[in-house]
Amino acid sequence: MKRGLTIWRCRACGVAFFPERLLCPRCHSHEWEQDRVYEAVVEEVSTIRHMIGQSDWTPRRIASVRTSDGQLITVGLRDDFSPGTAIDLYEDGSAPYGQAKS
Ligand SMILES: [Zn+2]
Repeated sequence: MKRGLTIWRCRACGVAFFPERLLCPRCHSHEWEQDRVYEAVVEEVSTIRHMIGQSDWTPRRIASVRTSDGQLITVGLRDDFSPGTAIDLYEDGSAPYGQAKS
């Protein structure tokens, strides 16, 4: 697990996105630079109880979180959080995860 999450920042207008986009939705530039974001606030938590085609599925918690840079992204949760909680962001491979602040 790596601390923080990679986001892509438009070189032309400075807005950052996750995941990476081909073109900036705001100014249509296609030049990006990588940046990192480390914190987010939980907006909504949901539990995935079933997955089609998977018989031994363990329920997983995911959350919509608002990063400190402003992106609304979906992350897996290691712990149980309620909306409004500030969390730390991590990368597990390329999957974003949220954990209690250290
Ligand atoms: Zn842009």
